[in-house]
Amino acid sequence: MEQMFKKHIRDVKDFPKPGIVFKDITPLLHNHAAFSAAIERFVDRYKGKDIDVVAGIESRGFLFGAPIAHQLGASFVPVRKKGKLPYKTVEISYDLEYGSATIEIHTDAVSKGQRVLIVDDLLATGGTAGAACELIRKQGGEVVECAFVVELAFLCGREKMKNTPIFSLVNYA
Ligand code: AMP
Repeated sequence: MEQMFKKHIRDVKDFPKPGIVFKDITPLLHNHAAFSAAIERFVDRYKGKDIDVVAGIESRGFLFGAPIAHQLGASFVPVRKKGKLPYKTVEISYDLEYGSATIEIHTDAVSKGQRVLIVDDLLATGGTAGAACELIRKQGGEVVECAFVVELAFLCGREKMKNTPIFSLVNYA
């Protein structure tokens, strides 16, 4: 299954800047069988786990998070870059390789005690997903797991997020 998914993930060299190999998941979205299989794999893993909320990380996390939430009968919550959400927000800043970034959710997105699944397309250093976990916990949510289509294991994001269970469909060692 992992090999099948890998066939639909395209390496784009030097995007968005020199030296980065961007893992492009648009071929997977383009292929109905592959996209369906990916969503099904996530849904199979989380059905019966009492997930109340699926939190998708901007922007490719929305593409996977929303159909997973729909099929689990859970709420969908967007985790967005600062300044994009229209209502009252709670935010968190985290360090990037150069500088920092801020993400936020609406103040009413997660209630105390809700079981939350965090979804993004890719786990690299774990900075983004780690910050999303903190944001959810700040609002009293319980992070059940973080789920990714792609994990770049050589960047050791999993170690950085050692307090949170991680699941990925495809791993690049
Ligand atoms: P990080 O915070 O380092 O784990 O980076 C994860 C976030 O950056 C995710 O939202 C990814 O979509 C994006 N990202 C980082 N590196 C890559 C890459 N090589 N290919 C595609 N997306 C990436």
